[in-house]
Amino acid sequence: MSGAQRNLDRKIVVIGAGASGVACATKLLELGFQNVLVVEAEDRLGGRIHTIPFADNVIDLGAQWCHGERDNIVYELTRKQEEELLESTGPVYENYQCVRSNGEVVADQVASRLKTIVGDSLVTRQLELRHCSGSLGSYLTNKFYDTLRRPENSDIDAEVAREFFDNYQKFENSVEASDTLEQVSGRGYLDYWECEGDILLNWKDKGFVELLRLLMRSRELKAEHGVLKERLLLSTRVQKINWNRNDGRVELQLSNGDSCIADHVVVTVSLGVLKEQHWRMFDPPLPVEKQRAIDGLAFGTVNKIFVEFPVAFWPEDWTGFTLLWREEDLDDIRGTSRAWLEDVFGFYRVSYQPRILAGWIINTNGRHMETLPLDEVQAGCMYLFRRFLQWTIPEPKQFQTSAWYTNENFRGSYSYRSMETETLGTGARELAYPLTVVATTPEREKEPEDELWQQSRCDRPIVQFAGEASSEHYYSTVHGAVEAGWREARRLAQFYGLSGSRSGTKSQL
Ligand SMILES: Cc1cc2nc3c(=O)[nH]c(=O)nc-3n(C[C@H](O)[C@H](O)[C@H](O)COP(=O)(O)OP(=O)(O)OC[C@H]3O[C@@H](n4cnc5c(N)ncnc54)[C@H](O)[C@@H]3O)c2cc1C
Repeated sequence: MSGAQRNLDRKIVVIGAGASGVACATKLLELGFQNVLVVEAEDRLGGRIHTIPFADNVIDLGAQWCHGERDNIVYELTRKQEEELLESTGPVYENYQCVRSNGEVVADQVASRLKTIVGDSLVTRQLELRHCSGSLGSYLTNKFYDTLRRPENSDIDAEVAREFFDNYQKFENSVEASDTLEQVSGRGYLDYWECEGDILLNWKDKGFVELLRLLMRSRELKAEHGVLKERLLLSTRVQKINWNRNDGRVELQLSNGDSCIADHVVVTVSLGVLKEQHWRMFDPPLPVEKQRAIDGLAFGTVNKIFVEFPVAFWPEDWTGFTLLWREEDLDDIRGTSRAWLEDVFGFYRVSYQPRILAGWIINTNGRHMETLPLDEVQAGCMYLFRRFLQWTIPEPKQFQTSAWYTNENFRGSYSYRSMETETLGTGARELAYPLTVVATTPEREKEPEDELWQQSRCDRPIVQFAGEASSEHYYSTVHGAVEAGWREARRLAQFYGLSGSRSGTKSQL
């Protein structure tokens, strides 16, 4: 067997079949590696991409939109298809009604001014947060009330403004996956780069799962798992990663009792899983810098609530509503079994689903909801609809919630940069760097003159880390997860000096 062939035969195990794992494995195959296995704890592919049939079409319990176009790998992948796969969701999350807990609809003219105040901060924060040592929460609070105090806003009712801002903070928490905005680092917020273009592109009637089909090329190959066919081990958990064997290989202990020896392992499990399980998962324990990254990067919970009604009871041009709680009305639920409802912040229309509304819940209450029986959650949501909306609300036909926290394979929804991240001085780079051993044999096909290769010359990556949280600028998204998966596939190709690892990857990135 030639050296090149031996390298392509290296056993590579990818842990996790979410967007990052699927992207990594399919890229490795594309680069010529042949001995690739993906081990996934769930009985399905996709991880935090989870499209299920519901009502007239499908719904996404996790990722729903492609966020932006320029420099967005997911968007670029869809552009290579003949069919237009993505579509603008339109102004659903701009045109919503603001409804108070006594059923009063905030006048459009007032609501749109309040929306403009918070909308304007989206621009100013890009400049002002650069020098901010505090939290996103304190920045936004000061900004909002400073603007509200201006003479031109003196006619806005202070109570309504406060209720609106309370609600807005919940919305922002859903974007970050934080419990409170005081947890979010002001400066760290800028680590995230928004891709230019439409940030709410939906997958029409197909759902986000379509991306997995593209990555696996299962549409062309007509096999369910496309190029990953027979390379997938579903319903199998990796329990232990023994990465310090004398032979420089990695031993994995699997939940089915088997063990497996690999030349390289790519870990794509969520940051939530790493936070909870890295101590028992890695033997020996991870280096201190890696532990600091896992501790310091933040991971929070956002959940969705889908309600199917027998008919749409709302007007055609109505896109949904946000819930503005009057302080005195909160007393009706606080201290009761319905207290969790305070953190449901809105219900919105869903593309290609004429009869459903999708609600969002954050915070500890979002995690608490996961522990409640579904009929109790449904009753709570119906209480909200009937309390806030003036129309006659029919009983729902179907009801579905997500549960990202209680599932031990996720332990939350997505990552963000917290004040703790700042304090510990850590970040995605520290999470992403691989565990290596010194290479003792000439393992490369040839010596390319590239700088990255030179740097890594002596270090053979044996355990690599991908997943959305390891993306420096696109964390918390699917495009960040895909990018991270490709990054690690490319790292291996570069280690072995495989031709095509640079040009092939560049052309796709
Ligand atoms: C409610 C919600 C809404 C979102 N909305 C959007 C959106 O609109 N647009 C967007 O771009 N992003 C969105 N995201 C974020 C996006 O879904 C994630 O960033 C992305 O899917 C993460 O992919 P991943 O491969 O990094 O991780 P995961 O999808 O978590 O994949 C990791 C996989 O590892 C498996 N695993 C865990 N432990 C083990 C083990 N021990 N052994 C084997 N397998 C294991 C898990 O089961 C999982 O399948 C949303 C997420 C949520 C939860």
